[in-house]
Amino acid sequence: MSFFEKILRHHPKPITEKELQDALKHGEFVFYYQPEWDLKTNKTRGVEALVRWESPKRGYVPPMEFIPLLEKTGLIHEFTTYLFNHTVPDLVKVHTVAPDLFLAVNLSICQLQEKDLISTIQKELQANNLDSKYLECELTESQELTDEILSNGVLDKLAELNIPVSIDDFGTGYSSFERLKRLNIRKLKIDLSFIRTLMEDEKNKSIVSSIIKLGHDLGFPVLAEGVETTEQQEWLRDNGCDYAQGYWFSRGLPMDQLLPFLQENMNKK
Ligand code: C2E
Ligand code: CA
Ligand code: CA
Repeated sequence: MSFFEKILRHHPKPITEKELQDALKHGEFVFYYQPEWDLKTNKTRGVEALVRWESPKRGYVPPMEFIPLLEKTGLIHEFTTYLFNHTVPDLVKVHTVAPDLFLAVNLSICQLQEKDLISTIQKELQANNLDSKYLECELTESQELTDEILSNGVLDKLAELNIPVSIDDFGTGYSSFERLKRLNIRKLKIDLSFIRTLMEDEKNKSIVSSIIKLGHDLGFPVLAEGVETTEQQEWLRDNGCDYAQGYWFSRGLPMDQLLPFLQENMNKK
């Protein structure tokens, strides 16, 4: 590698709109699926789609580096269609080995404001003959859910379609109790920053216990993200947490690894 190549590697050129357009056109965005498991039964309940850009030029690019650019360039609209076009047929394949699992997709506030979001979802579900009960949408708590978004009806339409919303990264952002009450929420997902130092930090234990209690008092289950150790897993189960995700159970897996993983997990006694 030449001196200049080395420099370029450490200071990659900014991603351009054209590159993102090409990535959409050539199918370079791929979805990995991270299982969510039930802490009581240790069985998978569903999978969350996590996008990665496998760029021939840049290699692996994590979502946080290109989702904001897709939003800035307006290409996010095309990406939303791409997301459902790819993940819903994947769920049909998942159902061949694990019939009842759901698919969770991450939607940014920008995506939630797209006028045809609901029709895009409906079209894809119909084309795959899939009931809407198998879909979940994750909204990040740190993105302000403004009154405008709450009143533009999209959350109500998701509710009408029976598609529940989970609050992602819970504990890091701004959620008034009033809003929590108004949303048709499936579950709260406790942000992984609280789980990372759970065993060493008494304050994090208090926060996590309080979120579990809050969720249960409001009538919805609670999931812990980023569970990496047996100790964390046991503590969460003993403290009433319902579900979990994290490397302890599984990383996000490409389809060819997900199917054998599910087959083995679903058949376990
Ligand atoms: P997120 O939805 O909170 O996803 C969880 C992130 O934590 C994922 O990173 C996942 O790989 C990582 N993770 C899971 N388990 C563990 C663990 O045990 N330990 C640690 N250290 N990390 C763990 P990823 O895939 O880089 O995604 C980052 C964020 O990008 C996601 O956060 C989500 O907000 C966003 N994102 C991903 N896919 C999409 C998408 O299709 N659309 C939109 N709008 N955003 C997406
Ligand atoms: Ca998520
Ligand atoms: Ca999260």
